[in-house]
Amino acid sequence: MPEFCDVALPVPLDMVFTYRVPAEATPVVGGRVLVPFRQKRLTGIVVDLHDRQPSVKIKTILSVLDATPVLDDQLLRLGRWIADYYLAPIGEVFRTMLPLTAEFKRAVAYRITKEGQLALHLAGISGSSARSRRTPDEQAAEFRVLDYLAAQEAAPEAAIQVREATLRSTTRVSKSVLSGMVRKKWITREDVSATRNATRTIKIALLKSADGKLNENQRKLIETLAAAGGRVPAETLQTLEIPHTTLGTLVRRGLIEIVDEPASLAITRSKARSSPFAFDFNSAQQTALTSLREAVEARKFSGILLHGVTGSGKTAVYLAGMRAVLEAGRSAILLVPEIGLTPAVAADLHQIFGDEVAILHSALSDKERAQQWHRIKSGDAHMVVGTRSAVFAPVADLALLIVDEEQDSSYKQEETPRYHARDVAVVRAKMANSVVVLGSATPSLESYFNAKKNKYALVELPDRVEQRPLPEVEIVDMRQEFQETGQEHVISRKLAAEIKERFDRHEQVMVLLNRRGYSPVVLCRACGKTLECRNCAIAMTHHKREYKMICHYCGYSAPVPKSCVHCGSEYVYFLGTGSEKLEELLHGMFPQARIARLDRDTVRGHEDFERTLNALNEAELDLLVGTQMIAKGHDIHGVTLVGVVGADSALGLPDFRAAERTFQLLTQVAGRAGRGQSPGKVILQTYFQDHYAVQYAARHDFAGFYEKELRFRSWMHYPPYASLANVLIRSDKLDEALQWSGTLGKWFEQTRHESVRVLGPATAPILRLKRDYRYHFVLKSPSREKLNATLRAMLAYAATQKIPRTQVIVDVDALWLM
Ligand SMILES: [Zn+2]
Ligand SMILES: [Zn+2]
Repeated sequence: MPEFCDVALPVPLDMVFTYRVPAEATPVVGGRVLVPFRQKRLTGIVVDLHDRQPSVKIKTILSVLDATPVLDDQLLRLGRWIADYYLAPIGEVFRTMLPLTAEFKRAVAYRITKEGQLALHLAGISGSSARSRRTPDEQAAEFRVLDYLAAQEAAPEAAIQVREATLRSTTRVSKSVLSGMVRKKWITREDVSATRNATRTIKIALLKSADGKLNENQRKLIETLAAAGGRVPAETLQTLEIPHTTLGTLVRRGLIEIVDEPASLAITRSKARSSPFAFDFNSAQQTALTSLREAVEARKFSGILLHGVTGSGKTAVYLAGMRAVLEAGRSAILLVPEIGLTPAVAADLHQIFGDEVAILHSALSDKERAQQWHRIKSGDAHMVVGTRSAVFAPVADLALLIVDEEQDSSYKQEETPRYHARDVAVVRAKMANSVVVLGSATPSLESYFNAKKNKYALVELPDRVEQRPLPEVEIVDMRQEFQETGQEHVISRKLAAEIKERFDRHEQVMVLLNRRGYSPVVLCRACGKTLECRNCAIAMTHHKREYKMICHYCGYSAPVPKSCVHCGSEYVYFLGTGSEKLEELLHGMFPQARIARLDRDTVRGHEDFERTLNALNEAELDLLVGTQMIAKGHDIHGVTLVGVVGADSALGLPDFRAAERTFQLLTQVAGRAGRGQSPGKVILQTYFQDHYAVQYAARHDFAGFYEKELRFRSWMHYPPYASLANVLIRSDKLDEALQWSGTLGKWFEQTRHESVRVLGPATAPILRLKRDYRYHFVLKSPSREKLNATLRAMLAYAATQKIPRTQVIVDVDALWLM
C-alpha cells in the first residue's frame, strides 16, 4: 500500500491535502476517508495514492469509509473538469456530486474497546462491579451491550436497540447509558461506518399468523404487519406506541423476526394519469427518434439540439429514446427543470420504466436522495430522471443524456460550485462517448449558435401534435391604452373582453404577471423615499394577506408601515401590482369565476403545485393567475386564452440576457394556449411594443429573434461570441469591500492580460445583498483558456493580499450580472 494519500476536502481552498495512510488501512482512489482537519473531522474523497514524501508535517487518516470507489474514473475526471473550468475548489465540487450527506449524519456506530472487553471479562468473574454509582438495572444494560458488541465488529445504535427489544429485559438502553460507557472508554462512538449505509433498514417481518392468545399490543403489531404485507420498518413501533417488550415476546414465540434489508424506493407514487402515455408519433417525431437512436447505436459522442415548438411532443421522443436505451441494457439520464418534475410526471415515468427508474428532485430528504443514489450505483435503476445535480448520477454505461428545456436557468447553480448542468452534461457525454440531446422550444443563444456551427445536429419539430395551430398573438400597447382611457389599468379593455368571452364559452384562461406579492413598492410622497430591506438595497414588497413587507432577495420581513420610516409622514403609497393584487382585481371584475393563483406564496411544495394544476385540468377552475411558474411545460387542454400583463419589465434591466429571457418567457407562456381541440389566443400587454423580443415572440419567429439577438451579442462582444465571467467582491463591511475591489482593480490594471477585457470595479447593480456590500468586475475574452488563466492568476494574487477566498466569487458563464 502506498504510504500517502491526497484527499479533496469540502473546504473553500483550491487544493488537495496529503495524509499518511495507516498500516492496516486500504483507501481507494474515488472512495471516502475520514480525516482530521484543523479542529474538525471531515470526510473527503481520495484523489491519489503515492509514496512522495511531503515537505510539511502531515496527519494520518482516521478511517477508510469505502472499500470501492463512490466516484468512478469518469466522475472523478468530470469533477476535475468542473473545478478547472468554473474555478471551484475540487473538494466542494465532489461534495456537490455525491448526495450522501445523510450517511455521514446518520451512521453512528459503537465498537467495544480493550477496556470494555476487560470489563466484560471481569463482570463474568465477579458478577458485578462494585463501587458503581449505577443502578443494578443500568449495570445489567451496560453488560448486555458489551456482550453484544464483543461479537460484532461495530454496531449502529438502532441495532443495539432492536436487539435489546428481543431480550427479556425491562430496561431500555438509553442514550445516557451508552454515553456513560463511552466516557468509561469501554466503547467508542464513531461518526461514520463503512459497513452500513442508508440503503439498508431494519424491519420487522411476520413469520406466521398467531396460533395462541395475544394481548392487545401484540395483536396490534401482528395486525399492522399483516395489513402492511408482512414487513414494516422498525421505527413503526414508535408511531404505534408499542413497547419494545412486545416485540421481544413475539420474537421468542417465533411469530416475527427482525430483518436487515435494502431500503425500498421511497418516492410517493402519485396516481398515473387516466390516459396512458401515448407513443403514436407523427412523422417529424419519428424522424427525431430515428436520428436519436442512430446516434446512440454509433457509440460515439454526438450532440443533438431538438428544437420543437411548444406542444410538438418532445417529451414523447425523449421517453421513447430512453426506452430503446433500456432495451439495449444501457443507461440514460433525463434532466428536467426544477418546476418540471411533478408527481404526475413521476407517475408517468413509473408506468413506462417500472422499478428501472430513479427520480432525483429537490423535495427528497437527504436519506431518500442517498437511497436513490445507491439504487443507481448498484445497477438496480438504469433510467435516471432528475433536476440539476442528476447530471452526476453514477450510472454505468451511459448511452444517452437528455436536457429538457435546456435554456432553463434552474440548471445553473448559483452557489459554489457555480456549474451549468447543461454544459456539464455535454462534457460528461463526451467523456462517456455517448449522446447528449438538448431540447427546447426556445433554445439558448449558445446552443442554437453551436447547432448552426455544426457542433450539434439540429433536429426540428416544427408543428404541434395533431396539426394543432400555434396560438394567435395580439399585442396591446399599454401606453396607448393609458392615453385613450386616461387611467393606468392593469387589465386592458381588450383582455377583459376576451376573458369574459372565454368564461361565456366555458373555456379556461391563464394570466401571467411575473412578480409576486401585492405591491412591489412603498413610496413616501413627502420625502420621496421607498422602504428598503434592512439587509439589501432592494425595495420591500407588500404582501397583503400575510400583512407584511417582505424582501424577495433575503426573505427579511417587516411590519406594514403606517407612516414613513424616514420622515414620519403619513403619506405612504403602495405602488404597482403583483400577482396577489392581480388575483384580487380579477375576483372583483369576475365575481362568478373560480380563480386560483400559482406563485411562490401559494405553492410551498410539489403537492400544492400539483393540486392547483389538477384543478385546472379537471375544469374546477376558470382562471389561473401566476408568475412564470404557470408558463412552463404544463399540458392543460382547456386553456384557450393566455393573458400576459407583465412579462417585459426585465427589458428595462441592465442585463445583456434580458431580451433573450423575455423572448423565452413570452414564447413559453403563449405555448400554454390552445393545446386541446379549440385554438388558442394570447393577449400580450406591453410597454415595449416595438422591442424586437416582443415582436418576434408575437410572431413565433425564433429564427428571426435569433438572428437579431446574435448581431447585438456580436457587436457587444457578449456570449456566444466571447467567454464571460463575473467576479464579485463582497463584505459586510463597506470599507473592506471597497478596499479589496480596489486592490484587485489595481492588479487588473497593472498586469497584462492578453485578449482579456476587464470592466470594473463597479458597484454591482444590487449594491447590497444579504448584508454584503458588493462590487464586481466583468471579464470577457474570445479565448476560454486566456480568460481562465487570468481568473486563476487573480485568485492567486487575492490570496497573497489576504482577501478571503469565500469573499471573491468567480462566476464563469454567469447568467446574471446583478
Ligand atoms: Zn418620508
Ligand atoms: Zn433583503
